[in-house]
Amino acid sequence: MARLLFGTGGAPHSAKTASTIDGIEHSAELGLGCMEIEFVQGVKMGEAGAHLVAEIATKAGVKLSAHAPYFINLNAREPEKIRASQGRILQTARIAAICGAESIVFHPAFYLGDPPEKAYDTVKKYLGEALDQLKRENNRVWIRPEIMGKVSQFGTVEEILDLCTELEGLAPCLDFAHWHARTGTFNSYQEFTSILLQIKERLGRATLDNMHIHVSGIAYGKKGETKHLNLEESDFQYIELLRALKDYDVKGLVICESPNLEGDALLLQTTYDTLPKTD
Ligand SMILES: [Zn+2]
Repeated sequence: MARLLFGTGGAPHSAKTASTIDGIEHSAELGLGCMEIEFVQGVKMGEAGAHLVAEIATKAGVKLSAHAPYFINLNAREPEKIRASQGRILQTARIAAICGAESIVFHPAFYLGDPPEKAYDTVKKYLGEALDQLKRENNRVWIRPEIMGKVSQFGTVEEILDLCTELEGLAPCLDFAHWHARTGTFNSYQEFTSILLQIKERLGRATLDNMHIHVSGIAYGKKGETKHLNLEESDFQYIELLRALKDYDVKGLVICESPNLEGDALLLQTTYDTLPKTD
């Protein structure tokens, strides 16, 4: 990736319709560089539709990623739920590849009362199986487990980076709002750069050159995230985050998930573009 691109999770609200194609075309009109296709309620796009999406996105110069369905739990008790979860990851990756998306993002699991180490081993096993399958299919899409915002959800920074070190084809989706909500901290320049440094040390500079980031304002309580907010209505120090990203010359996609979607995506992009680099 040549630089850091900004875009929305799903079609911008001001697009003609909420369709992926209208979303891509309107993202380009707004001057945004990327968009995440939301398959969060299921992958309903067919192959023909995906080919058309790829064509439109290339023409519009908008980079794509895809968000897998929410109904994934690689630590489920029932084998059929594990199979279905793996299936949703595979299905998202297959359609995303046809769309020309380079990454898919997913919420890996819930602990369901398990010790984190036990959940980790289970997630690693079943995710590994899904990655093996994609490899057999020659699918090159980056599979990105997300840093999660609730304490009941598998997905601390450490868990996700551990998985990425152990499994081939895996890279992190760094949701800075989630991590702030989960910890109540991680809201300063120094804390943001500490994560970037950790990624560089553990996964290599190439990972910072191809990052996938989620940002939004966020409300939270003792159990972590409660809901997404617009940036200006939350305590999230997005300018500090943008400074950290600029100083570390991070490249890739920044997907905004604030309720006002393109409002905050454009705010992030404009702010980033006007920041001086201090390094
Ligand atoms: Zn997500």
